Amino acid sequence: MKIGILAVQGAFIEHERMLQSLGCDCVEIRQKSDLCRLDGLVLPGGESTVQGRLLRELDLFEPIKEMIQNGLPVLATCAGLILLAEDISNDSDRHFQTLPVTVKRNAYGRQLGSFVTRASLGRLDSFEMVFIRAPYIEWAAPDVEILSTIDEHIVGVKYKNQIGLAFHPELSCDKRLHESFVKLCQSMGSSL
Ligand code: GLN
Repeated sequence: MKIGILAVQGAFIEHERMLQSLGCDCVEIRQKSDLCRLDGLVLPGGESTVQGRLLRELDLFEPIKEMIQNGLPVLATCAGLILLAEDISNDSDRHFQTLPVTVKRNAYGRQLGSFVTRASLGRLDSFEMVFIRAPYIEWAAPDVEILSTIDEHIVGVKYKNQIGLAFHPELSCDKRLHESFVKLCQSMGSSL
């Protein structure tokens, strides 16, 4: 199982460690040639504006968008969720737009926007959720599966091959979400 982890900026190393501990081969994606025969892709947290700019500068934007549209399983956390979102309510930038949701950036405020809580995430109960200047999802298309809601705001969704989370599962010790992602990659078939 070969998982690519976008490594141009942000919290990619923690995803890598977690996936390696589950037996995955991980490739840090920094250039087009790194995008070879992947079974899955992680878009990590960080700063979505910077990531969006670097993706375009490094000619990664179009190939990655195409791979997602062609069904490559994606786990997108925080800034990664913003990259996938079809619409961003408080920003003029748009990125991959493969996930039919509207997100609000820095939705909990910039300064006091970091907190930890616990909630269910799909079938995973009592999942620790670390929020760092996080977005939340203001609107999701009817065919998007809602995995988690905190204070009436959507913070986790699944849509076809895409999992989008407003928080950082890689910063907790709980590996259940990454295990589910690896299963999704296995179920979507061999290398794309
Ligand atoms: N605030 C960041 C953004 O809007 C996301 C923060 C994160 O990934 N932890 O891009």
